[in-house]
Amino acid sequence: MTKPSICNYAVLLVLAIALGGCAMSIPNPDNSLLIPEDPSVQQAISIPVYQRNELVSSPEEALQLLLEGNQRFKSGQILNKDLSFTRRSELLKKGQHPFAAIVSCSDSRVPPELLFDQALGDIFVIRVAGNIVTQAELGSIEYAVEHFKVPLVMVLGHEGCGAVTAAVEGGETHGSISAIVNKIKPAVIEAKSGDLTGSALIEKCSDLNIQNSLKDIIKSSIIKEYLETKRLRIVGCKYDLDEGGISFVD
Ligand SMILES: [Zn+2]
Repeated sequence: MTKPSICNYAVLLVLAIALGGCAMSIPNPDNSLLIPEDPSVQQAISIPVYQRNELVSSPEEALQLLLEGNQRFKSGQILNKDLSFTRRSELLKKGQHPFAAIVSCSDSRVPPELLFDQALGDIFVIRVAGNIVTQAELGSIEYAVEHFKVPLVMVLGHEGCGAVTAAVEGGETHGSISAIVNKIKPAVIEAKSGDLTGSALIEKCSDLNIQNSLKDIIKSSIIKEYLETKRLRIVGCKYDLDEGGISFVD
């Protein structure tokens, strides 16, 4: 059987929906011929393609887009993404308009594009172990805010962070890893001032480390200006590895 084109699928889908809607009053014995036989094709054409307004200037709208995307990810209802040559060419010609900048840990289990169910050109991601903010990360954030006018900056930590755990355990580090651990140390000192131990201590340190990254971001005069004029919002969040959800870290 010749493989139908995408256009043919679209026509078939429209016909299937139209006839399906009339199924109660107009029996149609040929309905089965209108739906492609391959179950994966049936599933693919039934999932909508993710779309958003090209320009998102409201911090609240940007945050809502991320939260809705995370809800889809968490519930296993992620949308199709347009990864076609046409879309890639469009992004090249028209340029990118990401609506949020996200500083997240490099942990392979925490990819922002996936856990917020976003597509090409949607989010400007800065990944570094321990989601720390040094001058290089801050420069990237400033670029996203000034150049792309992203209305939202998020620092995204996560449960069970290896970089935070290493900093809490305080073992010997080699090479440039110590630069990351040293950046997390102020959070370790503060977390250890309480009576927490074990995983509770690590998670407390992780939360404090997210807050310290937020403090580092708002030291920027560029960021301050955008915050003061309400063109930008900055939020701290934490990702729950097994549940897949996001919580705010104030
Ligand atoms: Zn991590």
